[in-house]
Amino acid sequence: MLVASLPGDGIGPEVTRQALRVLDALGLEGLTVEEAPIGGAAYRASGHPLPDETLDLARRADAILFGAVGDPDCDDLERHLRPEQAILGIRKALGLFANLRPANLFPELADASALRPEIARDIDVMIVRELTGDVYFGDKGMRTTEAGLREGYDLMSYDEAEIARIARTGFETARARDGKLCSVDKANVLETSQLWRDVVTEVAADYANVELSHLYVDNAAMQLVRDPGQFDTIVTGNLFGDILSDLASMCAGSIGMLPSASLDKDGKGLYEPIHGSAPDIAGQGKANPLATILSAGMMLRYSLDQAEAADRIEAAVGRALAGGLRTADLGGSATTVEAADAVIAAL
Ligand code: NAD
Repeated sequence: MLVASLPGDGIGPEVTRQALRVLDALGLEGLTVEEAPIGGAAYRASGHPLPDETLDLARRADAILFGAVGDPDCDDLERHLRPEQAILGIRKALGLFANLRPANLFPELADASALRPEIARDIDVMIVRELTGDVYFGDKGMRTTEAGLREGYDLMSYDEAEIARIARTGFETARARDGKLCSVDKANVLETSQLWRDVVTEVAADYANVELSHLYVDNAAMQLVRDPGQFDTIVTGNLFGDILSDLASMCAGSIGMLPSASLDKDGKGLYEPIHGSAPDIAGQGKANPLATILSAGMMLRYSLDQAEAADRIEAAVGRALAGGLRTADLGGSATTVEAADAVIAAL
């Protein structure tokens, strides 16, 4: 089992290092890790945020553990050289079209949720977000209007095959959970969304045992805050999923708690915390590594066929939290290293 470790920028290397310590502590036989630069770190080393050698390692590996990319010093670079292009590029190059983001609240963190504890404790939702299409990948640019005004534009589009593929992931994910799938779109104003709704409804015919509902994205955002317990699995496009999963993260305690998986059609995946490189706290040793540690757990479960080891990681995180572990984002003072120490001690 070869794991590619791509730590990236900011707090990325800090949290990835701790997740690798936890993996190491599991003592799994035959697991090897190779590291490569990505993002701003790679740009500085070799002039490109996603060097060929890094992409080559990602292709060779059985799974990828990714930290975060993003560096304010790179903000003035041409867009294709900015660190964030590396994550978009790797998703596209490896065909990682399905992003699974669980948001569930460890009971010990009910007081850390932005929601009242009696509402927050019910949250256990899996957000399935399409990752390789939508407005992020459409034709984009800057132009000047006839009136001489600067105008930015980004084309939103999905074809029916892209929608059907992610819809199937949504239905299959829901089927393995509580059998309820909510598809989120903006079909009242967007043609792309109308096609989305039509195709998801067509695919539903193959999943009679899954209960399908539809919500407009503005209502979905409201419902996630009002009553998150009503959701089991949500399937949505790239843009809406980006926003809703961050919103769900705050309902679940902290952005520092949430892992994610990005899968290709064969189950190979890239695993990363949902947060970014957090330049505001980088280098201070206080980033919460639990999202990355839990991402390593998802990696064991979904790509490396090590469900038992994944269970051990999740249980150890729960025990560490029950034992009082709180990093700064959770209202405590544990450092990044101390947080990983607590998880390793609880394994
Ligand atoms: P961010 O997720 O990096 O940070 C948002 C806020 O949450 C910050 O206040 C940060 O300190 C806090 N935070 C994030 N992770 C934390 C953790 N593990 N522990 C404690 N606190 C944590 O989002 P941002 O500030 O909007 O973006 C910063 C950079 O990251 C930008 O360059 C952005 O493009 C990039 N980014 C990258 C990814 C990715 O690599 N997949 C995702 C999102 C943002």
